[in-house]
Amino acid sequence: MGLQRDFLHPSCVNKLTDNFFLVLPIIKEGTSGGWIIAMTLMPAMKVFYSPAYSPCTPNSSGSAIETTLKATWIAEAIARKFPRIDLREPTPLTEAQIAQTHDPRYVKAVLTGKPEHVASSNSLQWSPAIWKMATASNGGVLAAARTALQDGVSGSLSSGLHHAKYDRGTGYCTFNGLAITAQRLLRERRVPSVLILDLDAHCGGGTHSLVSHDLRVQHVDIFTTPFDAYIPDWSNTAEYPVHLDEYLDVIKSRLRALQGIEFGICLYNAGMDPIHDGIPATVLQMREKMVFKWCREQGIPVAFTLAGGYLLKNGATGQDVTKDELIDLHLATIDAALETFLRLNG
Ligand SMILES: [Zn+2]
Repeated sequence: MGLQRDFLHPSCVNKLTDNFFLVLPIIKEGTSGGWIIAMTLMPAMKVFYSPAYSPCTPNSSGSAIETTLKATWIAEAIARKFPRIDLREPTPLTEAQIAQTHDPRYVKAVLTGKPEHVASSNSLQWSPAIWKMATASNGGVLAAARTALQDGVSGSLSSGLHHAKYDRGTGYCTFNGLAITAQRLLRERRVPSVLILDLDAHCGGGTHSLVSHDLRVQHVDIFTTPFDAYIPDWSNTAEYPVHLDEYLDVIKSRLRALQGIEFGICLYNAGMDPIHDGIPATVLQMREKMVFKWCREQGIPVAFTLAGGYLLKNGATGQDVTKDELIDLHLATIDAALETFLRLNG
């Protein structure tokens, strides 16, 4: 007998193996007062999250920003609504591991807080929690990618941190999780090539500066706000849909152009901030389904990160977003990823 998804509650779910949960719903028997225990094995998608992702740090102007808080909101929502997601705490990256991609002097500045202008170049007020946030977030991206290579799909509730440059942070991004992960997987020969698909509203100028010289990495960027813009080189692309009603078509045609290329993994930076530039939530939900379906059909493992998405209006044509709406926007990524995971593993 199949179990209804709504019937399952996290308290009924016990980890049995690395990939499967033992689900124990208890049903009371009517007359005898006895209990029937029904059991079933169900696969669970691993998603990486640490409380260190959300250090409640103020930005340099002194106000708390949701970009460092929302991971915890989303983790709480997942625990309530998605019993078939296995939230796991990642191992933080070390100073030496991060220094394989970033300037060791910059890495040391973030660790120690000195010099201050370098340590807070990410626009976040430095504290020891910033180091923990950055190392946990980057550990989460790497763990998600490694897991995706085994399970087909995984993700991290951190951002991909696509603005971070070699020797400084930018736009709340400290170390570049997309670049660190791509370079690490290639160095370890776990994959022959990497697709970085960045659909955050802003450009991934940090990522491009770190990976564009490596022809094994294809960086595909479709943005709605030209912050952190760059001129793509080699086969990398950066597209700016002129008319917002072309948004999905631009993504669709870019994915079509990539069809048939054998990527070892897709690192998907699933920003929801295009909503602030006038892209409706329904279109972003369709985008998520399209991306994960494309990866599934192409046989490409995919690791997602959450990226942008804010509470306040950020553009002339966009809309304000409430906390619940912001959580729901990001849950659209979780939902689409889980659908693909279950199709692959269910
Ligand atoms: Zn953004």
